Amino acid sequence: MARNRKDRDSWGSFTDKATYDWSSEEEEPDGRARPIQVLVVKDDHTFELDEAALSRILLAEEVHNREVVAISVAGAFRKGKSFLMDFMLRYMYSQASEEWLGEAEEPLTGFSWRGGSERETTGIQIWSEVFLVDKPDGRKVAVLLMDTQGTFDSQSTLRDSATVFALSTMISSMQLFTEYGRLAMEETFLKPFQSMIFLVRDWSFPYEFGYGQEGGMKFLEKRLKISENQHEELQNVRKHIHSCFTNISCFLMPHPGLKVATNPNFDGRLKEIDREFINNLQILVPWLLSPKNLDVKEINGSNITCRGLLEYFKAYIKIYQGEELPHPKSMLQVPMSCVVSFFHHYNVCGGDRPFLAPAELQARHSDIREEALQVFRGVKKMGGEEFSRRYLLQLEGEVDEVFNQYIKHNDSKNIFHAARTPATLFVVIFI
Ligand code: GDP
Ligand code: MG
Repeated sequence: MARNRKDRDSWGSFTDKATYDWSSEEEEPDGRARPIQVLVVKDDHTFELDEAALSRILLAEEVHNREVVAISVAGAFRKGKSFLMDFMLRYMYSQASEEWLGEAEEPLTGFSWRGGSERETTGIQIWSEVFLVDKPDGRKVAVLLMDTQGTFDSQSTLRDSATVFALSTMISSMQLFTEYGRLAMEETFLKPFQSMIFLVRDWSFPYEFGYGQEGGMKFLEKRLKISENQHEELQNVRKHIHSCFTNISCFLMPHPGLKVATNPNFDGRLKEIDREFINNLQILVPWLLSPKNLDVKEINGSNITCRGLLEYFKAYIKIYQGEELPHPKSMLQVPMSCVVSFFHHYNVCGGDRPFLAPAELQARHSDIREEALQVFRGVKKMGGEEFSRRYLLQLEGEVDEVFNQYIKHNDSKNIFHAARTPATLFVVIFI
């Protein structure tokens, strides 16, 4: 792909990429970058966030204050996610050079470099190295690569996986969903937000819809058509889809060839991959990752930094813990982001903040409450009016409840009332 000089220059900062101090025992002693499992869905269907690992990645000195571009590749196991992500890593490490694809005989490493040791864990893995990239507009952004995986083999695992995908959609600027030869729209169209790209692998009807983005878009349009005989709920999902994602696109990828698909000893070398696949890879990867195409993660209209993303991650997890999920209908996630952003505003008297006069607390509460409800009313929502109203009531209830908690907490800091201030930090309680 032709790349102008300006583009190439914009990767200059790559050399100041972050280095990490891996201290925990399970981690590689040599500090080499690798996938880190940050979210696990356990056998009892509870979610576990490895906050320490996530913090190490997102709070690293070089990146924590940088605006973040979070790219998630999501899909079921054995869909070729790691394979694709390893090519994405090559592109990132080569700093978008013309020769990013590498040598014909070079084995592919990265998300799959540990070979068979990768457990089939529903959850999210993050590449331990966050890349710093200069965008053509002069901004230096942090790029985070996430591998989001789930199993879809039973009702309960479907539920877990959908939750994990929903989570990753919420924290990604761009989510790439991999699926073989078809679009599993029914299972995947759950979340509103930034960009969703459907990557259809092993596409075998290029004469009907050509490989790449253009054919993909046409294919997608066809799939998004609403027809009378669809179940009402699926019709609704389709109706809402355009208002839920800022960008939706689709890319049709050819089959990589039999060696890739069936040879257990295949190590990813280009020599053994079909030419047609490689040609399309050379279009796909720069399309996803070239500096000008990297979109900073936005939540409710504001750009998010790595540090902010960590907070959202933690807050979203709390929301999902114990929540009933996921029917397309019940996945009204916008209120959740409102709740979270509300928390950011709301933390007026938590933690080690000083005691506030009750009247002032009440005044701030009223302002912020109104602000949060306005944000809620203003954002795009999935699920229609009826659901929206229900969540609005819920949000109001939660806000009032948290206010009561704040009053108590604030009181406890009043030296005239309390003999001592609480030792523990105040935590989010309304999600
Ligand atoms: P993951 O579980 O989604 O991360 O999948 P992997 O990247 O580990 O790939 C699973 C298997 O699919 C490997 O044997 C790959 O060689 C193979 N594979 C990768 N990409 C493709 C593809 O586009 N089509 C087919 N048919 N197989 C692929
Ligand atoms: Mg994998």
